[in-house]
Amino acid sequence: MSTFDLTGRVAVVTGGNGGIGLGMARGLASAGATIVVAARNRDKSDKAVAELSSLGGRAVAIAVDVADEASVNALVRATVDRFGRLDVLVNNAGINIRKPPQDLTLAEWRQVIDTNLTSAFLACRAVYPTMKAQGGGKIINIGSMMSIFGAPYAPAYSASKGGIVQLTKAMAAAWAPDHIQVNAVLPGWIDTELTINARREVRGLHERVLARTPAGRWGGIDDLGGVAVFLASAASDFVTGTEIAVDGGYSSQG
Ligand code: NDP
Repeated sequence: MSTFDLTGRVAVVTGGNGGIGLGMARGLASAGATIVVAARNRDKSDKAVAELSSLGGRAVAIAVDVADEASVNALVRATVDRFGRLDVLVNNAGINIRKPPQDLTLAEWRQVIDTNLTSAFLACRAVYPTMKAQGGGKIINIGSMMSIFGAPYAPAYSASKGGIVQLTKAMAAAWAPDHIQVNAVLPGWIDTELTINARREVRGLHERVLARTPAGRWGGIDDLGGVAVFLASAASDFVTGTEIAVDGGYSSQG
């Protein structure tokens, strides 16, 4: 059996119904995992489940609002009730509200922080007892290039993604004795609904990304499948508290 094999593993992917979450879910499903697609839009989730099921494994949709504590707890309960285990959590759901700091309202700040950062705390806390009782688990938190760099139009988003990296380190240190590895993935610029909107709202973004990315292209969602399988599998059992950029070299040059 390959150390990358995920047969029999159950993976919850928040925001797994599109974009980077779907790319990661495709990778995990191809490696044999059962996928729980956890997001709000039922139609999108049903489509993702149909696609993931065609890859050979099991997939189900469970509706969740990751910013809501009760909803996150219910997601974890429903997963364990249904499958009897929960091995992998991908905290991927995220949003951005693009405004300079002086124009961002407190409600907008809270919406971004709650969706991108507090959500990861809530979901990790909810899965911990199950993973500990099982003897281990894998948590993958999704950061961003804005975990490293700031952007004038993304104060709350940058703060949330910087926070994801530090939260990852704290949880990795706390839960290593329980054989739970917690790592972050920092995607570069990936072609998704989120960045279609970014390109609409931020003039010149498309060209700037192309010029700065040594690989000379935007990423596609399937560029995230391999790192998800690595961080979800036994291949990464001694890897914890780190962040892996999947960015075509974007962060490697000034
Ligand atoms: P998309 O907009 O394509 O996907 C966002 C996903 O999050 C959707 O599946 C959406 O599902 C879900 N979501 C949003 N809010 C909630 C919520 N409150 N509860 C549950 N699910 C929610 O964006 P991307 O795929 O681009 O982004 C995914 C992650 O990757 C985000 O964390 C983003 O910050 C990060 N990222 C993206 C980059 C890129 O270039 N695309 C670069 C770096 C990081 P639904 O609406 O059905 O709830």
